[in-house]
Amino acid sequence: MRTDAGGSSPNLAAAIAKCRLSGAQITPLREAVLKALWSTEQPLGAYELRDQVSQDVEREISAPTIYRTLDFLCAHGVAVRIESRNAYVACKHPHDDHACILFVCNECGASSEVENKKLERLLAADAKALGFSIDHRVLELSGSCAACAG
Ligand SMILES: [Zn+2]
Ligand SMILES: [Zn+2]
Repeated sequence: MRTDAGGSSPNLAAAIAKCRLSGAQITPLREAVLKALWSTEQPLGAYELRDQVSQDVEREISAPTIYRTLDFLCAHGVAVRIESRNAYVACKHPHDDHACILFVCNECGASSEVENKKLERLLAADAKALGFSIDHRVLELSGSCAACAG
């Protein structure tokens, strides 16, 4: 597998550390998928990822293998599936336990993630009132990013 001269970004390293902390093994394939997700603000579909990662690890990776890898990364909270796009982004705050709040641009497709503890507390209170236990905390908001709106 190729490694970039500059090495991994600190956040990519944090994502890998998070997986390891929960006892998960980071195979070269898993790392390559994570790296591809970290390399862009654009959500990537499984087929785009397959092409990119196949190039990176220098062998043909099948789509089911990519899906399995993405499931694994999502389960470990280091990747997020954007349901409305059927695409994936890296969780931008892998060091922290949080709800991923994603602002996705309808025009250029870029996604930005924020954390909002206040909103999380409100949602947790609502869940408590309902007796509901939340196991998936991703919020998607769509619209125009600053660049496209301006
Ligand atoms: Zn996140
Ligand atoms: Zn945009």
